Amino acid sequence: MMNFRLVQPKRLVDINRIEGLGGIERTDGGIRIGALVRHAEAAEDALLAADFPVVAEAMAHVGHVAIRNRGTVAGSLCHADPSAEWPLLVALLNGEIEILGRNGPRIASPDDFFVAPLVTGLEDGEMVTALHLRPLNGRVGMAFEEVSLRAGDFALAAAGALVRVDCGRLAEVRLALGGVSDIPVRAEAVEKALAGGPATTDTIEAGLSLSANGLEPSDSPHASAGYRLSLVPVLARRVLVRAMEGALR
Ligand SMILES: Cc1cc2nc3c(=O)[nH]c(=O)nc-3n(C[C@H](O)[C@H](O)[C@H](O)COP(=O)(O)OP(=O)(O)OC[C@H]3O[C@@H](n4cnc5c(N)ncnc54)[C@H](O)[C@@H]3O)c2cc1C
Repeated sequence: MMNFRLVQPKRLVDINRIEGLGGIERTDGGIRIGALVRHAEAAEDALLAADFPVVAEAMAHVGHVAIRNRGTVAGSLCHADPSAEWPLLVALLNGEIEILGRNGPRIASPDDFFVAPLVTGLEDGEMVTALHLRPLNGRVGMAFEEVSLRAGDFALAAAGALVRVDCGRLAEVRLALGGVSDIPVRAEAVEKALAGGPATTDTIEAGLSLSANGLEPSDSPHASAGYRLSLVPVLARRVLVRAMEGALR
């Protein structure tokens, strides 16, 4: 934002040496990812690889090696670019954003946190201290895909899916979309239509027509709104089928 002269702060605070903001650790309910964890660290983490392999898959699309070595999880969440990978992952995985302010700690859901492009629900005097992810039990598969003009560019459109299969049926389906709305969104119409159906590609294909419901992407120099919309069912099919196959494996 400083590079684009969107903000010109009078003071910059380096949070790199504040204790307690780093590290990825198991907690009672899941995994805590410290605010200062870099994209590259998350991509290589064994805990995340075991429970959330979709994180490493998505991180491969974040910029380039130098960006992944420096950019942080919380920096990406707080920047709140609707095309960025972390906001989409948080929406997909029902992440809980740990915030600390003058009145103590609080947890924000993705719906509370992402307000508009580059705008979050953080109040003055608050900062993000961690992200919490809670794994699901059972046979779960996940997948992430995006389309960008060049490798490393921000996505024109991105999709993440999580599928839980039980007794040959789609017990739970989640589809999150990025780059096609002001904030990362869940395709609830698709999720509801598919849940409970047989775990087959035919079931998934039947729900794809609902995947662009309610989306209003904006035109940009990189892609028209119409083009972004046309990517949605294509990406949705790919991630849902791969996530289902992962759960069935
Ligand atoms: C060339 C280039 C390509 C990129 N490509 C991608 C891409 O493809 N996908 C992608 O997702 N990202 C991409 N990025 C963004 C990058 O991944 C970083 O996440 C992003 O630049 C934020 O960097 P940072 O973590 O250093 O945060 P900063 O730049 O330091 O901070 C970003 C914002 O968040 C605030 N902030 C940071 N940490 C906290 C905190 N703990 N609590 C409260 N507020 C906080 C800052 O005040 C600032 O407003 C790219 C960046 C560059 C420069």
